[in-house]
Amino acid sequence: MNKVVAYIGLGSNLITPEAQIATARQAINALANVQECAFSSLYRSPPMGPQDQPDYVNAVMAVKTDLSPMQLLRCLQKIELDQGRVRKDERWGARTLDLDILLYAEEVIDVPDLIVPHYGLAERAFVVYPLQEIAPTIHVPGKGAIADLVALCPLDGLEKIAG
Ligand code: ATP
Ligand code: MG
Ligand code: MG
Repeated sequence: MNKVVAYIGLGSNLITPEAQIATARQAINALANVQECAFSSLYRSPPMGPQDQPDYVNAVMAVKTDLSPMQLLRCLQKIELDQGRVRKDERWGARTLDLDILLYAEEVIDVPDLIVPHYGLAERAFVVYPLQEIAPTIHVPGKGAIADLVALCPLDGLEKIAG
Protein backbone atom coordinates (compact mmCIF):
# COMPACT_ATOMS: atom_id res chain seq x y z
CA MET A 1 0.00 0.00 0.00
CA ASN A 2 1.23 3.52 -0.74
CA LYS A 3 2.07 5.77 2.15
CA VAL A 4 -0.14 8.78 2.74
CA VAL A 5 0.24 11.79 5.02
CA ALA A 6 -2.19 12.01 7.93
CA TYR A 7 -2.52 14.74 10.57
CA ILE A 8 -3.20 13.89 14.19
CA GLY A 9 -4.43 16.32 16.85
CA LEU A 10 -3.05 15.71 20.35
CA GLY A 11 -4.58 17.14 23.53
CA SER A 12 -4.19 16.63 27.27
CA ASN A 13 -5.24 18.42 30.43
CA LEU A 14 -4.49 15.94 33.22
CA ILE A 15 -1.37 14.56 34.92
CA THR A 16 1.46 16.60 33.42
CA PRO A 17 -0.08 17.34 30.02
CA GLU A 18 3.22 18.23 28.34
CA ALA A 19 4.65 14.86 29.36
CA GLN A 20 1.49 13.12 28.10
CA ILE A 21 1.95 14.76 24.70
CA ALA A 22 5.64 13.79 24.59
CA THR A 23 4.84 10.19 25.55
CA ALA A 24 2.09 10.00 22.92
CA ARG A 25 4.47 11.35 20.27
CA GLN A 26 6.93 8.57 21.09
CA ALA A 27 4.17 5.95 21.08
CA ILE A 28 2.92 7.10 17.67
CA ASN A 29 6.47 6.96 16.32
CA ALA A 30 6.83 3.46 17.75
CA LEU A 31 3.85 2.20 15.71
CA ALA A 32 4.81 -0.03 12.83
CA ASN A 33 4.13 1.70 9.51
CA VAL A 34 3.86 5.20 10.98
CA GLN A 35 6.64 7.80 10.71
CA GLU A 36 6.57 11.37 11.93
CA CYS A 37 7.12 14.07 9.31
CA ALA A 38 6.39 17.17 11.39
CA PHE A 39 5.37 18.17 14.91
CA SER A 40 3.99 21.60 15.83
CA SER A 41 4.86 23.74 18.81
CA LEU A 42 2.89 23.07 21.97
CA TYR A 43 -0.09 25.35 22.55
CA ARG A 44 -2.13 26.09 25.67
CA SER A 45 -5.89 26.51 25.27
CA PRO A 46 -8.84 27.06 27.59
CA PRO A 47 -11.20 24.06 27.83
CA MET A 48 -14.13 23.61 25.46
CA GLY A 49 -17.39 22.67 27.12
CA PRO A 50 -17.21 22.23 30.90
CA GLN A 51 -15.10 25.09 32.29
CA ASP A 52 -14.30 23.50 35.67
CA GLN A 53 -11.24 21.69 34.32
CA PRO A 54 -7.61 22.64 33.67
CA ASP A 55 -6.39 24.30 30.47
CA TYR A 56 -5.30 21.98 27.67
CA VAL A 57 -1.97 21.46 26.03
CA ASN A 58 -2.41 20.79 22.30
CA ALA A 59 -0.24 19.99 19.31
CA VAL A 60 -0.62 18.69 15.77
CA MET A 61 1.57 15.98 14.25
CA ALA A 62 1.98 14.96 10.61
CA VAL A 63 2.79 11.32 9.91
CA LYS A 64 3.41 9.17 6.87
CA THR A 65 1.59 5.88 7.10
CA ASP A 66 0.32 2.93 5.17
CA LEU A 67 -2.21 2.05 7.86
CA SER A 68 -5.80 2.47 6.74
CA PRO A 69 -7.76 5.27 8.43
CA MET A 70 -9.56 2.76 10.65
CA GLN A 71 -6.32 0.95 11.55
CA LEU A 72 -4.78 4.29 12.48
CA LEU A 73 -7.82 5.19 14.64
CA ARG A 74 -7.62 1.88 16.53
CA CYS A 75 -3.88 2.35 17.16
CA LEU A 76 -4.47 5.88 18.47
CA GLN A 77 -7.30 4.69 20.73
CA LYS A 78 -4.99 2.03 22.18
CA ILE A 79 -2.39 4.70 22.96
CA GLU A 80 -5.11 6.80 24.67
CA LEU A 81 -6.02 3.82 26.84
CA ASP A 82 -2.37 3.00 27.56
CA GLN A 83 -2.02 6.55 28.89
CA GLY A 84 -4.96 6.21 31.21
CA ARG A 85 -7.76 7.75 29.14
CA VAL A 86 -11.07 7.08 30.84
CA ARG A 87 -14.15 7.68 28.69
CA LYS A 88 -16.89 9.30 30.75
CA ASP A 89 -20.42 10.29 29.79
CA GLU A 90 -19.56 13.97 30.03
CA ARG A 91 -18.69 15.41 26.62
CA TRP A 92 -15.32 17.18 26.43
CA GLY A 93 -14.44 16.38 30.04
CA ALA A 94 -10.88 16.36 31.37
CA ARG A 95 -8.61 13.66 29.93
CA THR A 96 -5.02 12.50 30.07
CA LEU A 97 -4.88 12.16 26.29
CA ASP A 98 -7.02 12.75 23.22
CA LEU A 99 -5.75 11.70 19.80
CA ASP A 100 -7.96 12.68 16.89
CA ILE A 101 -7.41 12.06 13.19
CA LEU A 102 -7.71 15.51 11.64
CA LEU A 103 -6.89 14.64 8.03
CA TYR A 104 -6.02 11.50 6.13
CA ALA A 105 -4.54 12.40 2.74
CA GLU A 106 -7.31 14.16 0.80
CA GLU A 107 -9.91 11.64 1.94
CA VAL A 108 -13.42 12.41 3.08
CA ILE A 109 -14.63 9.65 5.41
CA ASP A 110 -17.99 9.42 7.12
CA VAL A 111 -18.57 6.07 8.79
CA PRO A 112 -20.02 5.48 12.28
CA ASP A 113 -16.66 5.52 14.11
CA LEU A 114 -14.72 7.95 11.96
CA ILE A 115 -15.35 11.33 10.41
CA VAL A 116 -12.48 12.85 8.41
CA PRO A 117 -11.70 15.72 8.11
CA HIS A 118 -12.42 15.90 11.85
CA TYR A 119 -15.84 17.50 12.23
CA GLY A 120 -14.64 20.29 14.56
CA LEU A 121 -11.43 21.10 12.73
CA ALA A 122 -12.34 24.51 11.27
CA GLU A 123 -13.93 25.87 14.47
CA ARG A 124 -11.10 24.95 16.83
CA ALA A 125 -8.23 27.39 17.28
CA PHE A 126 -6.13 24.67 18.96
CA VAL A 127 -6.33 22.69 15.72
CA VAL A 128 -6.13 25.24 12.90
CA TYR A 129 -3.23 27.31 14.28
CA PRO A 130 -0.85 24.40 14.93
CA LEU A 131 -1.95 22.78 11.66
CA GLN A 132 -1.06 25.95 9.77
CA GLU A 133 2.32 26.02 11.54
CA ILE A 134 3.34 22.64 10.07
CA ALA A 135 1.25 22.66 6.87
CA PRO A 136 0.90 26.30 5.76
CA THR A 137 -0.41 25.48 2.28
CA ILE A 138 -2.69 22.55 3.05
CA HIS A 139 -6.25 22.41 1.75
CA VAL A 140 -8.85 20.85 4.02
CA PRO A 141 -11.34 18.88 1.92
CA GLY A 142 -14.77 20.47 2.05
CA LYS A 143 -13.55 23.35 4.24
CA GLY A 144 -10.89 25.30 2.35
CA ALA A 145 -7.30 26.52 2.52
CA ILE A 146 -5.77 26.48 5.99
CA ALA A 147 -4.89 30.20 5.74
CA ASP A 148 -8.57 31.00 5.16
CA LEU A 149 -9.64 28.78 8.06
CA VAL A 150 -7.16 30.52 10.37
CA ALA A 151 -8.37 33.95 9.24
CA LEU A 152 -11.92 32.99 10.22
CA CYS A 153 -11.03 31.34 13.54
CA PRO A 154 -10.59 33.58 16.61
CA LEU A 155 -7.68 32.63 18.89
CA ASP A 156 -10.11 31.94 21.77
CA GLY A 157 -7.27 32.32 24.28
CA LEU A 158 -4.87 29.99 22.45
CA GLU A 159 -1.20 30.65 23.32
CA LYS A 160 1.96 29.09 21.97
CA ILE A 161 3.99 27.62 24.81
CA ALA A 162 7.50 29.03 24.77
CA GLY A 163 10.42 26.67 24.17
P1 ATP B 1 -14.32 15.55 19.77
O1 ATP B 1 -14.53 14.41 18.80
O2 ATP B 1 -15.41 16.58 19.75
O3 ATP B 1 -12.94 16.16 19.66
P2 ATP B 1 -13.43 13.82 21.83
O4 ATP B 1 -12.17 13.81 21.02
O5 ATP B 1 -13.34 14.08 23.28
O6 ATP B 1 -14.43 14.91 21.20
P3 ATP B 1 -13.64 11.05 21.96
O7 ATP B 1 -14.29 10.58 23.22
O8 ATP B 1 -12.13 11.04 21.90
O9 ATP B 1 -14.20 12.48 21.59
O10 ATP B 1 -14.13 10.19 20.73
C1 ATP B 1 -15.49 9.93 20.53
C2 ATP B 1 -15.64 9.13 19.25
O11 ATP B 1 -15.29 9.91 18.12
C3 ATP B 1 -14.76 7.90 19.15
O12 ATP B 1 -15.44 6.77 19.56
C4 ATP B 1 -14.39 7.83 17.66
O13 ATP B 1 -14.85 6.63 17.07
C5 ATP B 1 -15.12 9.01 17.07
N1 ATP B 1 -14.43 9.70 15.98
C6 ATP B 1 -15.06 10.12 14.85
N2 ATP B 1 -14.23 10.74 14.04
C7 ATP B 1 -13.01 10.73 14.65
C8 ATP B 1 -11.73 11.22 14.27
N3 ATP B 1 -11.54 11.88 13.11
N4 ATP B 1 -10.69 11.03 15.13
C9 ATP B 1 -10.90 10.40 16.31
N5 ATP B 1 -12.09 9.90 16.73
C10 ATP B 1 -13.14 10.07 15.90
MG1 MG C 1 -11.12 15.55 20.41
MG1 MG D 1 -11.04 12.10 20.49
